Amino acid sequence: MRFHAIYFLILTLLLCLTSCGTAKDKNQITLMPLVEQQMTLGPRTPGSEAHEKFIDQTVEILTAEGWEVRCEEERYQGKTVRNIIAERGMDNSEGKWIVVGAHYDSRITADQEKPPANQQLPVPAANDGASGVAVLLGLAKTLPKDLNKRITLTFFDAEDQGRVMGWPDWCLGSRLLAEQYGQLERRPDAVIVIDMIGDADLNIYREKNSDQALTDELFSIAAKLGYSKQFINEPKYNMYDDHVPFIEQGIPAADLIDFDYPWWHTLSDTTDKLSESSLQAVYKVLFTWLTKNN
Ligand SMILES: [Zn+2]
Repeated sequence: MRFHAIYFLILTLLLCLTSCGTAKDKNQITLMPLVEQQMTLGPRTPGSEAHEKFIDQTVEILTAEGWEVRCEEERYQGKTVRNIIAERGMDNSEGKWIVVGAHYDSRITADQEKPPANQQLPVPAANDGASGVAVLLGLAKTLPKDLNKRITLTFFDAEDQGRVMGWPDWCLGSRLLAEQYGQLERRPDAVIVIDMIGDADLNIYREKNSDQALTDELFSIAAKLGYSKQFINEPKYNMYDDHVPFIEQGIPAADLIDFDYPWWHTLSDTTDKLSESSLQAVYKVLFTWLTKNN
């Protein structure tokens, strides 16, 4: 009897160790190549060939990972806007509906560039675009398929063309989607937007327009995972980012953004300013948040 009890205990321990190991391995992914994959296309400015190629490439990746994918193209405020939307578990009526989004467009003008002559050139957008997209793609590749939730990953178009000649405003893609969601009987329970989260010196503060409860949840997970240096639990900046249109529709939304980035809207927003560890911090926080209570 005694022998059997010990044998059973050892077996249980081994099984636990193995399964814990597998659970950990699920969220191992290197994210920098997902940034580089976008950067090799060139600036993904609306209407450009790089923008077009980005859409094709992303739809292909998401489809291969088993997501239901669509590219929603609409005329909105006089512009053509193309959001890429990947969904999973939408037939799940019990679980929560969570939306995670990032903008994929690059800004047409590097208007923070000096001298002004260079302002006519587009922003390479390694941090201001590609970083958030890389984390979204990382989640698309690693999230368990059997989550008891509806998950929507959205790649917003035309976030970054505010105050550009011929463009009506910022955040066109998210506004288009938020207006659609606002009319639904069943709306998302939470929207998280990630933007400019790849800076090697990552300082994400609590964004002041964001839903407080959602921000609390994300920052508390970050602290538990040991990312208190990257996620600074103090309020700073009011951002008009892709989360605001959802808040305006009464949908709880939060923005994770590091606005302390010296190369914002310049030609120097390039891959060398980013680090794998910063991308990992944001990715791990979101992965943990999305898979908790499941
Ligand atoms: Zn921007």
